[in-house]
Amino acid sequence: MARDGPHRPHRGTGARVTPDSRSTFDSQLAFARRMDRADGLAHYRKRFVGAETDLVYFDGNSLGRPPVSAVERVERFLREDWGGRLIRGWDEAWLQLPTEIGDRIGRAVIEATAGQTIIGDSTTVLLYKLARAAVDAQLARDPARREIVIDTDNFPTDRYVLDGIARETGCRLRWIDVDTSSGVTPEQLAEAVGPETALVVVSHVAYRSAYLADAPELTRIAHDAGALILWDLCHSAGSVPVKADLWGFDLAVGCTYKYLNGGPGSPAFAYVRDDLQAVLAQPIQGWWGTTDMFAMGPEYRPVPNIRRFLSGTAPVVGMLAMEETLAMIEEAGMPALRAKSIALTEFAITLADEWLAPLGVTLASPADPEERGGHVTLHHDAMREVTARLWQRDVIPDYRDPGGLRVGLSPLSTSFEEVHRGLGLTRDVLREVLAERAGLG
Ligand SMILES: *Cc1c(COP(=O)(O)O)cnc(C)c1O
Repeated sequence: MARDGPHRPHRGTGARVTPDSRSTFDSQLAFARRMDRADGLAHYRKRFVGAETDLVYFDGNSLGRPPVSAVERVERFLREDWGGRLIRGWDEAWLQLPTEIGDRIGRAVIEATAGQTIIGDSTTVLLYKLARAAVDAQLARDPARREIVIDTDNFPTDRYVLDGIARETGCRLRWIDVDTSSGVTPEQLAEAVGPETALVVVSHVAYRSAYLADAPELTRIAHDAGALILWDLCHSAGSVPVKADLWGFDLAVGCTYKYLNGGPGSPAFAYVRDDLQAVLAQPIQGWWGTTDMFAMGPEYRPVPNIRRFLSGTAPVVGMLAMEETLAMIEEAGMPALRAKSIALTEFAITLADEWLAPLGVTLASPADPEERGGHVTLHHDAMREVTARLWQRDVIPDYRDPGGLRVGLSPLSTSFEEVHRGLGLTRDVLREVLAERAGLG
């Protein structure tokens, strides 16, 4: 498979097999089953709805599967908590959920000490609130800091939100042009920042390529230039270890419906380093962020802690399912999840090397697992068609331009045999599409 870096050693059974023969299929299947038997996290798969079926799910990086216990939890909540406690539930427990679950994400997922992480609105809205607060604070300190640095391949919502903030505040966007199969490097960031930089916004794991940014180094570069940095952790939370405190993060946001299995539209989390909390004024000043909210006072007086980043009533039902995944992560630990995630992506790349590269597929993700998050993007100009046909056969990857089939591998719910089955069917479907094209030619 065409890629940068050293030649990948054969990771199958060790037997030399003819590429594309029946025997590579069988020997790789035996390998996948051995990996599943040896996998210390394999038992978690049974805890997800639908994992017992033959469906291959390669999209846990976009919408994770529901934990079985979340179904019970939400039902119990509706009957007993909502139905039984009614309005009394707010005082008894629900008011504290944004900080309670936020702290749990801090502990289990991003290594942030308590009081710095909160469950709020969608990722998009939290990005807006944090970025706007950061830009306003920088402009107040130094009116010459009018630049926001972001890369051309950051997730659309990140680019759109920052574009809007630049317009509102009279700032400029400074774009880092990145390769779509890679991401922002320290050299590129060092070149982009300077005395005019207010804020840098980077995704820890690039949504398209899975490029894993060097977060401690990029944070240091931003700080050396006097800038603040906002990390988007959507594709790393729950798949790649994050050390928010140790790496000196200022601000971060992350999705909870991807690797944290919170369900469609579950609210996102935000991290604000404790010494910044009293300095930053967020733009959507609502009653949930004010001191003594039930005093219903005449004016907004933001609380001097993480709760000031809340605006309105917390989306309680949407916060429940993610707690079931957080419990599994607390039990297993992020290092074990990361180790399995690497083994899964390595196996997917090995199979793609053997089965898909001969059909013209190339890797659009970093080859080095140290530079790669939890998914693998495989490129071929037929992938849009291949993805549509795979969905009809109950293999669910997703498609991202240009020509990228994204294979998302959620470490708690994906098995090695599932990867084998999914890439085997990808080969069959790609062959079919190519044969039809040849027939048409
Ligand atoms: C998924 C994702 C989002 C999604 O934002 P929403 O507000 O939940 O729609 C934002 N940023 C990145 C990098 C993502 O991967």
